[in-house]
Amino acid sequence: MLKIGLTGGIGSGKTRVADLFHEWGASVVDTDVIAHQLTQPKGLAMPAIRETFGDKVVASDGSMDRAAMRELVFHDPASRRTLEAIIHPLIAQVTEQQAREAQGCYLVLVVPLLVETGRWLKKVDRVCVVDCDPETQVSRVQARSGLTIDAIERIMSAQATREARLAVAHDVVLNDGATTPSQLCTRARKLHEYWCSLA
Ligand code: ADP
Repeated sequence: MLKIGLTGGIGSGKTRVADLFHEWGASVVDTDVIAHQLTQPKGLAMPAIRETFGDKVVASDGSMDRAAMRELVFHDPASRRTLEAIIHPLIAQVTEQQAREAQGCYLVLVVPLLVETGRWLKKVDRVCVVDCDPETQVSRVQARSGLTIDAIERIMSAQATREARLAVAHDVVLNDGATTPSQLCTRARKLHEYWCSLA
């Protein structure tokens, strides 16, 4: 099955675009959704997280306390690597299992850090970038999450630049501040039809 790696910076519109492909019949596997599930109450990563970092990063419902973890890894880069060493192999395992079960004319793997980590780059046939200017990313994420501008910029500075992403893209969906939802839909639809013709 044709495998598309869908990526883009935070707030670029990856989820929105992936939802459209899903609506049109593609299989979508989102590594962010999987990462989130792994750290929910009873998530597969929670026993190792509790054992490694202690109760201070576990919320009362048994899920990972994201704010506490964000602070911890911000002040201690080694703990970020430890967390990644727990989570990444589990994401890979669950993603590959869901990819094997995929149906439809192509599979979309949503990987926010596709360009940064390289791990998934060799597993996909094409890279599709949802492209957005940084100012629009900040305002969308602010509206969606209520994070401070500082926190958003911190996240963005750990991500690839717009140029670095575009450099590896086979396909691009422009979703900048001037893009209306219906323009986004039209652009995504063209790619959907193209991929179906390749598949
Ligand atoms: P990502 O998954 O890349 O972080 P999302 O798809 O969640 O980004 O989009 C971020 C926010 O911006 C969401 O609330 C989404 O509905 C909104 N959004 C994305 N694209 C547009 C657009 N073209 N017009 C208006 N709102 C948009």
